[in-house]
Amino acid sequence: MKPIRSIKTKLIIRIIIVFVLLSMVLQAIMFYSFRYLSIDSAQEKASTVAELTRDAITSFMILGVYDKRSVFLDRIKYAYGLKELKILRGANVVKQYGGVFIKDQVKSPLEQSVLDTGNKDFSLQETFVNAEFSLVIPYKALSDHKVRCLNCHNATEGEVLGAISLVMDLSKHRKQSISIMSYMIIISLVFSIGTLYIIYVFFKPYTELFQRLKFGFQKTQEGDFSETIEVPLLDEAGDVAKGFNSMSENLSKTLSSISSRVSLLIGHEVLKSGNAIKDTENTVDNLVKIYNFKRTIEKDSNRIEIFLRFQQILQEMGITTYCIYEIDNQKNVMSIISSDSLLNGVPGSKDISTSPACISYCNDVILNNVHECRAKRTGNIVDSKEFPAICFHFTPPKIVGAVNLCHLCIPLYVGGHVGYIIQLIYPFEGSDHFHSVLPYVKSYLQEGEPVIQAKTFMELLRGQSLVDQLTGLYNRRYMDEIGPKLCAQALRRNTILGILMIDIDFFKQVNDDYGHDVGDIVLKNVATLINSSVRESDIVVRYGGEEIIILLVDAVSAKAVDIAEKIRIRIEETPIEHPSGVLKKTVSIGASEYPTNANKFYQCVKYADVALYKAKHDGRNRVYSFSKDMLE
Ligand code: GH3
Ligand code: MG
Ligand code: MG
Repeated sequence: MKPIRSIKTKLIIRIIIVFVLLSMVLQAIMFYSFRYLSIDSAQEKASTVAELTRDAITSFMILGVYDKRSVFLDRIKYAYGLKELKILRGANVVKQYGGVFIKDQVKSPLEQSVLDTGNKDFSLQETFVNAEFSLVIPYKALSDHKVRCLNCHNATEGEVLGAISLVMDLSKHRKQSISIMSYMIIISLVFSIGTLYIIYVFFKPYTELFQRLKFGFQKTQEGDFSETIEVPLLDEAGDVAKGFNSMSENLSKTLSSISSRVSLLIGHEVLKSGNAIKDTENTVDNLVKIYNFKRTIEKDSNRIEIFLRFQQILQEMGITTYCIYEIDNQKNVMSIISSDSLLNGVPGSKDISTSPACISYCNDVILNNVHECRAKRTGNIVDSKEFPAICFHFTPPKIVGAVNLCHLCIPLYVGGHVGYIIQLIYPFEGSDHFHSVLPYVKSYLQEGEPVIQAKTFMELLRGQSLVDQLTGLYNRRYMDEIGPKLCAQALRRNTILGILMIDIDFFKQVNDDYGHDVGDIVLKNVATLINSSVRESDIVVRYGGEEIIILLVDAVSAKAVDIAEKIRIRIEETPIEHPSGVLKKTVSIGASEYPTNANKFYQCVKYADVALYKAKHDGRNRVYSFSKDMLE
């Protein structure tokens, strides 16, 4: 890639190019001016000398002292600094007077050309340092009123008698002009360097300003607004620097004001990575997420859904190991809510609590005595990063590679008591990331806490309205809700929903013989026996006074009767203790199956009742499965 040059380098390179070009053009102009002037003056001087010589020689001829001409020629040659001055004779003159005065018989092409044509001519022979100017003027036979050449010469009017040839050495002039040019070059070089220096000094603060601006903008892009530009310039450049400084200051103030307001809002210091723009973007982004979280959980149907959503957020933040404990302050116990149990649990049912799928990172002691849990006891956040063995009940499973696990337990309040403990597990080595996202985790919990509290109370109330207070079984209202749902589920899964209707035989007699309280005890005991005889997923409902319905989820065909028989035998064999003694009771059970017997839930319930009626009719303490003939 082509390297990017700075403004300073570019400026200097361009100025040098301009100066070099200017200097070259000036030198060329000067060289050609000197040359032209020296040739012009040489031509003028040579013409004068040549004509003077011709006239003087003519006079010598007239005066009859032509033989003295060599002294004159030498004198002229010396006086005008000529390299050569000679008189050439034409062919006729040589023929008439002989060729004794022609020193050099060898004629140059220029001389020959003038003798031939009779026209004045010149030539220039030059190298860069040396130059020779040659001029040849013709000597013609004229017969004007002063000189009558034809008197002495056997020649015709206008004939070329000879020529004056001279050579001037211009090397001296050439050398002088070269030396002047050299001085000029040196002077212009000095001026160029001087100008360059002045321009450099003048532009230096401007180029520096650009560099500072470039650096400043780079830092701004990285979210660092600490860069201020100080320039000793009062012109537009100074305004630019001031503008940059005030822009940085304003942005920095605005962003830190956003950050501090957000801190106030979420109750924690927001994350600072050094890049204020990114930090603000992240903060606003997280704020929006927290806001959305709160709006969403308000519409969630129960606390379990809220915790599920919260777990998703934890995972998005990179916290993958956690445990959520729910505390029953009345019973002084706590149970674990983890993703597995949350997914499998039926809202409102008891199986959302302790489940084999939940992994506990703490000693089981805390489950049966909540005061053993440090976070519950103190009501404060417990972080093992600060003090490694802060809670002795934190006993994480051994992990391959001996990862040193830390825990941070956050209590969540419900009705003034710690209702939940959010336990976050993180490796000691990765604690930086963990603690960097922790403020946001706390913000989510802070925003979610009142909603979780409201949902918990709501569910408690709802649970109470769906559960029979005497037996602890679900009531009829709950069956109205869950029955059709379980039917739909059975259809979808292509299984059977077994329905058992149980009635205690001669229950009225217990009331009559022992009183209503004993009747209640018997009822409770029978309910407990029935409840413990079926699976967790089966629904046991107190349908009427001493009538109990069991909805057997995923029952295999004809198995409902077997279960009913098991229940019947168990009740028959189990003595029930009461304050006045011990008694045994029997039950009659009617069984039906959905969708085998009918495609409507209540139709099946009715058929179970029909079977029960038949069992009662046939002598009680028996199990009857519904069949069509019973309807007759
Ligand atoms: P069978 O069903 O065998 O025909 O005889 P039964 O004596 O059980 O007859 P029935 O079903 O008519 O009587 C139900 C009795 O249960 C009537 C009522 O006094 C009593 N009962 C209903 N609810 C309760 C309750 O909550 N507590 C107590 N102690 N008794 C109840
Ligand atoms: Mg009865
Ligand atoms: Mg009854």
